[in-house]
Amino acid sequence: MLDLTGKKALVTGVANKRSIAWAIAQALHSAGCEMAFTYQTERLEGGVRKLGESLGVSHYYELDVTNEAHFDALAAGLASDFGGLDYALHSIAFANKEAFDSPFHEITETDFLQAHQISAYSLIPLCRSLRPLLAAGDGGSVLAMTYFGAEKVVPMYSLMGVAKASLEITARYLANDLGPENIRVNCLSAGPVRTLAAAGIPGFRELMRKSEHVMPLRRHITTEEVAQAAAFLLANTGITGEVTHVDAGFNILAAEGQASPA
Ligand code: NAP
Repeated sequence: MLDLTGKKALVTGVANKRSIAWAIAQALHSAGCEMAFTYQTERLEGGVRKLGESLGVSHYYELDVTNEAHFDALAAGLASDFGGLDYALHSIAFANKEAFDSPFHEITETDFLQAHQISAYSLIPLCRSLRPLLAAGDGGSVLAMTYFGAEKVVPMYSLMGVAKASLEITARYLANDLGPENIRVNCLSAGPVRTLAAAGIPGFRELMRKSEHVMPLRRHITTEEVAQAAAFLLANTGITGEVTHVDAGFNILAAEGQASPA
């Protein structure tokens, strides 16, 4: 069993008990890791604190990733109150719900830029602001959540697939950039999980229902499985710039048409 006693992690993206970040926080807590949480707005602070307190989390910071000043305040707060940082989880994504209703070629500049700013670009200021803290220990680690729609066309995932592709290559460039400071940056590509963010994607339930029967494991993954892999990736000192799939094997399949013999 993973022992993260003495390690400190920043967990972003806890919205509720269904959040992938919440499952990861539980896995980190079970391994003995101390944590700080972020919340997006004051309105949501109470709910995040209530969850965090059940795991003994005592440090909370406001982080709306569209507000650059929040990153500086976060880093300053972590340095003074939390006393260091080993791991950071980026579990944040957003796209205007209406963008999923239009054909891909109708996506607006505003929706495109917003999805990229929140879901991909935000990894850069997160790493930039936390870099001094992550570099100070004996090896820092950053993990971002992604999905297979970054690699192949999953029509209903649309704009978010492009943002995730940007997130994945951003993570690789950051891995190369920060590697000399012993900071690792990886992505975890999770299979579909019913969360608040997923509920905003039309056709998501249908995708889950249809894909279950073709998954190599013939079932969907659990958030616990994602969380165990996330804790491992945060802790492992030899992996950087990787996208690790925890998706019951879905990514190894060819599309139906490609798989049929001529
Ligand atoms: P979730 O519980 O809704 O988490 C999404 C988080 O993003 C929420 O905590 C949300 O905060 C936060 N967020 C959105 N805009 C933000 C902003 N401007 N600043 C700071 N935080 C912001 O859904 P989830 O499914 O666990 O998503 C977590 C990550 O996993 C995302 O990157 C998602 O793309 C990825 N992922 C999900 C699946 C899936 O099937 N669910 C599969 C693969 C990857 P508020 O709630 O406060 O708005």
